[in-house]
Amino acid sequence: MGIYAMTGGATGIGAATKAQLIAEGHQVIVVDLRDADIEADLSTAGGRQAAVDGIRAAAPEGLDGFIPCAGLGPSVTPHSLITKVNYFGALAVTEGVKDLVAKRRGSIVMISSNSAPMGADANYVDLLLAGDEEAACQLIDTLDGQTAYGGSKLALVRWMRRNTVAFAQSGVRINAVAPGITKTPLTDKVYADPTFGQIMKDFGESVPLGSVGRPEQIAEVICFLLSDKASFVTGSVFFADGGHDAMLRPDEF
Ligand code: NAD
Repeated sequence: MGIYAMTGGATGIGAATKAQLIAEGHQVIVVDLRDADIEADLSTAGGRQAAVDGIRAAAPEGLDGFIPCAGLGPSVTPHSLITKVNYFGALAVTEGVKDLVAKRRGSIVMISSNSAPMGADANYVDLLLAGDEEAACQLIDTLDGQTAYGGSKLALVRWMRRNTVAFAQSGVRINAVAPGITKTPLTDKVYADPTFGQIMKDFGESVPLGSVGRPEQIAEVICFLLSDKASFVTGSVFFADGGHDAMLRPDEF
């Protein structure tokens, strides 16, 4: 069967995705801070390089898919840590393994969020897309955690769409999943946060389908986009959020 690599596979949505891929008979190489094949801190240049080196050593014949899933929620401080892991960490490893995915004409699924279109700081997003990590981190440490988080997820989608044609030319499909509120260790931390906790609970109660998501429900969509069932799907953003995006932005299409 196939061979896949991912970051953030130790818990939450990543762990559910890993379990589903393994249940389908695939091999999965996981990068994470702990409980992983490759233990690496994606907030640092050294950790990103270790992740790329580790994946390349484990899959020299190429990858059928890659999922940069590691991410931090909006309650994490300093906010620049969110920027470093969610955007620059995700992209560094994606760039570092994309030729491996091309070798097997595989598929990449970025993990965005339904908070990406909910209002972002345009300067911050521009700095992310320009690849200026230092300036983006300096700016975001003066702004709030939701701006850090939502902007990182918006820039990931824009980066994915700007690169869709180039990836297609090398035989690689690239898409993004935009999960809504999903019960994981990330959201448990946000629920416990004095600033974000109540907002998150209220948000969770307003999901049109009636409850917050389970990691397995997001993993199903990720695995669909990775699979041959999605062989004509590339450059798409797939909302898996119980209807929240449609509720909040019905005409934004
Ligand atoms: P989670 O906390 O369960 O998983 C995140 C994983 O990333 C963890 O295993 C963690 O150890 C790893 N990680 C964090 N910092 C890292 C670092 N510096 N280096 C390497 N690994 C690191 O959270 P989750 O909810 O499963 O989140 C998975 C992805 O889904 C994230 O990108 C998150 O932004 C996104 N997402 C989650 C939700 C939600 O409601 N849970 C909604 C939208 C998007």
